[in-house]
Amino acid sequence: MGRKILFLGPPGAGKGTQAAMLARAIGVPHISTGVMLREAVAAGTDLGRKADVIMAAGDLVPDDLVVAMVAERLSQEDAVCGYLLDGFPRNVVQAGALDAAIGKGALDVALLLEADEDALVERLLKRAEQEGRADDNEDTIRNRQSVYRRETEPLAAYYPEHDVDVVTVDGMGTIEEVFAGIARALAG
Ligand code: ADP
Repeated sequence: MGRKILFLGPPGAGKGTQAAMLARAIGVPHISTGVMLREAVAAGTDLGRKADVIMAAGDLVPDDLVVAMVAERLSQEDAVCGYLLDGFPRNVVQAGALDAAIGKGALDVALLLEADEDALVERLLKRAEQEGRADDNEDTIRNRQSVYRRETEPLAAYYPEHDVDVVTVDGMGTIEEVFAGIARALAG
């Protein structure tokens, strides 16, 4: 199994948690565009100022900004032997830009973390109480789910047509159960 892995899945499916665990386990950097963008917002950079309101509404930050941010990150030395992408690409334009940057079919696998939408909304509302993320209120959460269905879910069909296997993993168990499912998916 190669080490260029993409995580797909709706907001709240646990991508961030699982991606961090898997990246540590296989020794590649965890590249999360959500984390990078929140850092840019906190630091008050140009990018952060542009992204702030868009993220708070649960919409997608413009493709050119995100693509440039990821291209720069992938050019860093620690990404030479592999990486785990979490939150990017989020639509077919971004996927096309990634193909152009790393080569079509260069990803080893796309892991699709599946979860029931009502459970996701509930999880995110609970996280809102604990972490206070600006985009974790009910309206924004619903919008993020619909943006996911409209923009990101089509990637599950895009990748098999672009020489990347998509493997589905059940995201509804405990953190350990889901991680075990990911390990099985990568082994099989
Ligand atoms: P979640 O998957 O839980 O919604 P993320 O941390 O992945 O959370 O993303 C949070 C927000 O950051 C998104 O709702 C969006 O506004 C922005 N964002 C993250 N990644 C991208 C991307 N690849 N393209 C455009 N916007 C993005």
